[in-house]
Amino acid sequence: MRATVMFGAGDVRIETVPDARLLQPTDAIVAVARAGICGSDLWPYQTMEHSGTGRRMGHEFIGVVKAVGADVRTMKVGDVVIAPFLYSDGTCVFCQEGLHTSCLHGGRYGSDGVDGGQGEAVRVPQADGTLVVLPVGADDALMPSLLTLSDVMATGHHAALAARVGPGKTAAVVGDGAVGLCGVIAARRLGAERIIILGRHPDRIALAKEFGATDVVSERGDEAIQRVRELTDGLGVHSVLECVGLEQSTRTALSIARPGGAVGRVGLPQEEAIPESLPTFFDNVTIAGGPAPARAYIKELLPDVLDGTIEPGRVFDRVMRLDEVPDGYRAMNEREAIKVLIELKTKERRR
Ligand SMILES: [Zn+2]
Repeated sequence: MRATVMFGAGDVRIETVPDARLLQPTDAIVAVARAGICGSDLWPYQTMEHSGTGRRMGHEFIGVVKAVGADVRTMKVGDVVIAPFLYSDGTCVFCQEGLHTSCLHGGRYGSDGVDGGQGEAVRVPQADGTLVVLPVGADDALMPSLLTLSDVMATGHHAALAARVGPGKTAAVVGDGAVGLCGVIAARRLGAERIIILGRHPDRIALAKEFGATDVVSERGDEAIQRVRELTDGLGVHSVLECVGLEQSTRTALSIARPGGAVGRVGLPQEEAIPESLPTFFDNVTIAGGPAPARAYIKELLPDVLDGTIEPGRVFDRVMRLDEVPDGYRAMNEREAIKVLIELKTKERRR
């Protein structure tokens, strides 16, 4: 079968790899119908050392079940399923607490013999605990929005929960990438009265406004902090969704929270230390967040996607075939595209 392999920074290729096949009785084989390129895939795209064997890529996908192991109970061949960006058993102490990202028997795609999602098929470990059967066909018009539940929409929701967004509150979203845009959707969905988006790309800001952003701050650093203060009577905001992970964005996020406020961090931190430790201490600011337990959120968010209440799939502004994926990485890396949707042809799915 064919799949996306990264061999080093800037070097993504579509390669022929061994076919996905059942190894454990808890596995399922999923023929991928749609997959995404994630902003987090751009970190290795920018920094990865050359590797002769390469690294399989992709952790956002929807597909059709092609085979199930003897112990799999919750799906059958032909079902359309969505995969959260990590696999999990659904039964351990952390899964039972809704924190599937810390599953004792979980893991990630693209390593340790598990396929990546940007390919024709994936062996999904712990299928019952991981995959969610969708009540739609594999070519349903809702596919883009459904696909965001595997990662970016779940992550935006996680940021909003960690930032304690609620009715009547003011929220700020730091970052206008796909996760930040989904954070705007999540903040509105949870009842935020006012949503300030911090970002500077006109196309993304326009989409943020359609998703519910009420104010835009395009400045950066100290000027951005100053501007948010001006918009909030000098107080700062109740809830901050940090959706970037860089030192400056984290500093901005922590500096615009009002006393007693909360910051939900979902951008992968690029620094060891958390900045602004003294001011946030004296202001009793809650600092929370981490990787989103997408598996726990899919069922909560799914009805809103199915009935059109939220349309997170609009963050995909480019559709490509599998053999165009290397150009998809380039387009996202050069900020030509917000997020790329990979559409696998039915013929490819039958292989
Ligand atoms: Zn678990």
